[in-house]
Amino acid sequence: MKSVIFIAPPAAGKGTQSTKLENLGYVHISAGDLLREEIAKNTTLGQEIKDILASGKLVDDMKVHELIKNKLVNIKKPFVLDGYPRTINQTHVLDELLKDLNINNYEVIYFDISVEEALKRALGRLTCICGASYNKYYDNLKPQIDGICDKCGSNLIIRDDDNEESFKVRFETFRKNIEPIIDYYKNIGKLHIVNAMESSEKITDRIKEILND
Ligand code: AMP
Repeated sequence: MKSVIFIAPPAAGKGTQSTKLENLGYVHISAGDLLREEIAKNTTLGQEIKDILASGKLVDDMKVHELIKNKLVNIKKPFVLDGYPRTINQTHVLDELLKDLNINNYEVIYFDISVEEALKRALGRLTCICGASYNKYYDNLKPQIDGICDKCGSNLIIRDDDNEESFKVRFETFRKNIEPIIDYYKNIGKLHIVNAMESSEKITDRIKEILND
């Protein structure tokens, strides 16, 4: 199984697809989750970045890179990198790191989705501390009991940045940064595009095809 880097606008489903790969034995490395963990633990970094995440802006490249690097240095299994890189600078730094670690058996998947669909998904998203994710706007993604996680019974939460104002900043930040990243991975022959408007099952099948090739 090849490792994979997911590149996607906010709420395109990269977290959901990452969890599915995790169930197949992948190590899930989510930049957003690592940053939210720092906030939850109230570390110095967590205190510095709390407002940045809530606003939808990006955290400093090297701060995120350190967290990602710590996860990648001793990795023994295929991994899914979710939400990193998000700038061309992060792309270059990551590329150097992967080369240093002799990791080349990976692909890059871009999730293509309209801004309208992504906004609807963001505004309906409910998450759980156990990592499960639901959506109140889609019948097949609603929890069985309103506001309660099917898997662990905890109360579901709305992420601080899943509001319209922050979504717009996140989407615009993504749009501004994405082109050189896409070009970069296209040039090194690693880029694949999936239609993220399709059902979650179809997207998973497409991802498996790409990674088993
Ligand atoms: P996500 O969980 O992927 O939607 O990320 C949530 C938030 O974490 C983003 O809106 C940013 O504020 C921050 N973040 C996540 N990944 C990165 C990254 N690669 N670079 C900078 N900030 C990031």
